[in-house]
Amino acid sequence: MVPSLKRLLAALRRLPGVGAKSAQRIGYHLLRAEKSESYELARSIVNLAERVALCSICGNIAETTADENRRPVCEICSDPERDEERLLIVEEPYNVESFERTGVFNGRYHVLGGLFDPLAGIGAEELGLDKLRRRIAEAAYNEIILATSPTAAGEATAAYLRELLEPLNVRLTRIAVGLSAGADVDYADEVSLRLAVEGRREMH
Ligand SMILES: [Zn+2]
Repeated sequence: MVPSLKRLLAALRRLPGVGAKSAQRIGYHLLRAEKSESYELARSIVNLAERVALCSICGNIAETTADENRRPVCEICSDPERDEERLLIVEEPYNVESFERTGVFNGRYHVLGGLFDPLAGIGAEELGLDKLRRRIAEAAYNEIILATSPTAAGEATAAYLRELLEPLNVRLTRIAVGLSAGADVDYADEVSLRLAVEGRREMH
C-alpha cells in the first residue's frame, strides 16, 4: 500500500465506529471519486477544527467569529427569545441537539462536558461545576432541570449537583426516567425525551 493511502486509513481508524474494513472502503472510494469530494471533506474537517469552539457561557458548541477578542457564544445563548427562567443541565453538546429537536424546552442550557468518573479523574473541577454554581448564583432562574442520564454516573452527578446548588435556594427538578433506567439520554428517542422533560420531578 502506498504511504499516502496508509496515512489516511490510519487517521480514519481513529474515528469512532470506523474499523479496518470501513477505513479501507472509504479510502478506496475517495481514490475513485472526483477530487472535489476529497477536497470538500478535508476542508470541512479543517473548518470545523478552526471555527468551532465551546460556548464561553454554557459549554455548547459555538461557531467562532473572525474577531479573536470576542469569546465564542452559541446560538442559544445569543438568542434573546429564550426563556431566561429555566436552565437545563446536560452532559454533552449533542444532548442539547436532542432536547432542541423535541421542542419541549425553550430555556437556557448548561453543558457539563461529561459526568462524574472518579476512576478517570473526572470530578467537580474537571466538569467546571464552580463556574456553573456562579452562573446560577448570578442569574434569576426559577427552575434548574437536571437532565443527566439515569445511569450510575448520571445519578451520581445529579446527586452532587443537588448538594452543590441547595444553598442557592432555587427550584431543582430531575427529568423523569421514562427512559428505561440505565438508558442513555443520547439514545432516547424524541418522544421519550419529551415525556422525560414533561414528567420531571422536584429534587428536594
Ligand atoms: Zn451557549
